[in-house]
Amino acid sequence: MARIDLSNLAHSYLPNPKSDNDYALTRMNHTWDDGGAYALLGPSGCGKTTLLNIISGLLRPSEGQVLFDGKDMTDLQPQDRNIAQVFQFPVIYDTMTVYDNLAFPLRNRHVPEAEVDARVREIASHLDLNDALMTRARGLTADAKQTISLGRGLVRNDVNAILFDEPLTVIDPHMKWHLRSKLKLLHRQFEHTMVYVTHDQTEALTFADKVVVMYDGQIVQLGTPEELFIKPSHTFVGYFIGSPGMNVMPIELDGASAKLGGQTVSLPGAAKVKAGDKVELGVRPEFIRLDAKGMPVTVNKVEDVGRQKIVRAQLEGRNIAIVIGEDESVPTDAKIAFDPKGINVYANDWRVEL
Ligand code: ADP
Ligand code: MG
Repeated sequence: MARIDLSNLAHSYLPNPKSDNDYALTRMNHTWDDGGAYALLGPSGCGKTTLLNIISGLLRPSEGQVLFDGKDMTDLQPQDRNIAQVFQFPVIYDTMTVYDNLAFPLRNRHVPEAEVDARVREIASHLDLNDALMTRARGLTADAKQTISLGRGLVRNDVNAILFDEPLTVIDPHMKWHLRSKLKLLHRQFEHTMVYVTHDQTEALTFADKVVVMYDGQIVQLGTPEELFIKPSHTFVGYFIGSPGMNVMPIELDGASAKLGGQTVSLPGAAKVKAGDKVELGVRPEFIRLDAKGMPVTVNKVEDVGRQKIVRAQLEGRNIAIVIGEDESVPTDAKIAFDPKGINVYANDWRVEL
């Protein structure tokens, strides 16, 4: 287990990168704590696999360093970094038995056979592979093969970190839930530093203590699921986390407040906004309520999604979503109010810290 530091990390796949656009990763300075369960969440193409491959050593970064417990790993080969990596698709030996596949990473490091046996059987029992141990991998389903890949990633207990790159992509939906909760349990038991890449927010939020959100080659926020919800550091985090995502409304500041829907909304932190900044208000749909004394809106649609309703409306021409209870009804002359603790101010897409 190790703490992972990314120091001034940047990567371009081009030989002579000129602008930020030529970089797959830009401006990374982050610490991932020893023993943490991190989800790395972001849309396709934002650089998640590039970052994992740089940490494991499959790729050398064009700039900056990767450190494990303060030691510079940047120039070390993958086999010298002591990292386990599980990929999107199974990486196993078809001609070997399930047992030998699971034993491989241990035998490769010359672990004594008695210990190999104990460890293989422990992991196999966690992943329900006990009955298949003596079966050759070739004839197994894609689900089973990927489960073996997970087992190979988890079998060593002396690794610096385990990196999972969208490992449940090929797994059947009902098995996904099962394996995801298994991984969470195994993290609690083994306390490895784990980084779990996904583009699925439910998967990220169920697995992780801390979520790293990536957008366009940058880490835009590293926080607990609650921090991402209450204080998204970038408008993208607001849109991406939550369903529906955060309402982001362009506004014109009037000192430390703004006029909206005929009311004055006071905005702590607005004093830090500089002239010429693009200023936006971010309010999650869950922090907006119907209020007879509030701002008038035009209701376009009410979606009943089971235990709550989503109201799609317009506030002075701005599209907004509001989440209300399943029993609430929406009057034709609906008025709304924001919960002050749910208001965030953004300047050029970054949250203005108070
Ligand atoms: P993610 O895993 O988040 O989907 P990737 O790390 O695979 O993102 O890709 C990040 C960016 O780098 C993308 O724009 C992608 O097209 C580019 N890229 C990835 N691998 C290569 C490669 N081998 N050569 C050139 N460009 C690449
Ligand atoms: Mg990827």
